[in-house]
Amino acid sequence: MEDFGVVFDIDGVLLHGRQRLKGGKEAVEYCEEYGVPHVFLTNNAMDLESVRADYLSSVLGPEIRADRMICAHTPLSDLPDEVKQGLVLVTGFSTGDVRDILFFKGFKNVQTVREYAQKRPYLVPNKLYPGRKLTAYEDPDLVIAAEEEKVSAVVVIENSTDWHEDLQVILDVLRSDGRVGSSMDEQMVDLYCCNYDFVFATGFRNPRLGPGAFMRCLEMLFRETTGRELEVKSFGKPFPPAYRTTERRLAAQSKSGTVPETIYAIGDNPRSDIAGANRAGKSYKSILVRTGVFNGNLDNDPKDPADYVVQDVEEAMDLIRAIHTVKN
Ligand SMILES: [Mg+2]
Repeated sequence: MEDFGVVFDIDGVLLHGRQRLKGGKEAVEYCEEYGVPHVFLTNNAMDLESVRADYLSSVLGPEIRADRMICAHTPLSDLPDEVKQGLVLVTGFSTGDVRDILFFKGFKNVQTVREYAQKRPYLVPNKLYPGRKLTAYEDPDLVIAAEEEKVSAVVVIENSTDWHEDLQVILDVLRSDGRVGSSMDEQMVDLYCCNYDFVFATGFRNPRLGPGAFMRCLEMLFRETTGRELEVKSFGKPFPPAYRTTERRLAAQSKSGTVPETIYAIGDNPRSDIAGANRAGKSYKSILVRTGVFNGNLDNDPKDPADYVVQDVEEAMDLIRAIHTVKN
């Protein structure tokens, strides 16, 4: 068998919402049948990999293994143990408990930004926390206790569900040495962002603001208050960590145990799927489909042109088969 693997984006390639797109089921079945290493690489970070895999199985048909599902947060598994041991604050909409996404990756000490803020209500003086009277602002003890545990990192997994609280508290933490109230000349707390998508599509006619829009606000507020640029470590597409995880997962499936010589990345979004694959290395070949974000009359995306442009995932698989002859 020739040495290649396939990376499927999900929304706009295999599915549109809960609707299957033409050829998606057959494409996955083909990879299964002929032992083609393949993964599903999505910027959706709302669920655990296993939950996302079960969802895709239920809508598409073929059973999807959790270890083939790479969400925008999956590369967080590779962070060093010292990060995983420290106090980490997390925010982002999840269909379950967002903390579990980190606990399942070996993080030991995780709080949501909301939990952290509720213990320090003076951080968000206009917020009506349960039991709070807004007749007067609390008089916080401004002495920073030396024994207070330092926050070592903040993770924005998905879209914030309370921009005001999250922006205020994360800004306080990022300006500090890990204990809010302190103010440092350099950023001492790491900030990780999983999904940088500025907007996302729903059933409504206009796109909705996504976590990327939240991050732009945070960047602006950090710049305005500190005069410095915010340092962010990004994980989802189009950033490199997503592709290093992809290569390891493909290698684990190949008979030789090595990364396939050619990796076809099929996606609908030029800014994430195509830009990411184009920058990820020589072995990647990007294939842009017209069933999602990119659906106009252009021959290719002018800013992030793909190696190939086809109508849909069915044509993408035909193209791959025409280049390679797959034998058992
Ligand atoms: Mg997509």
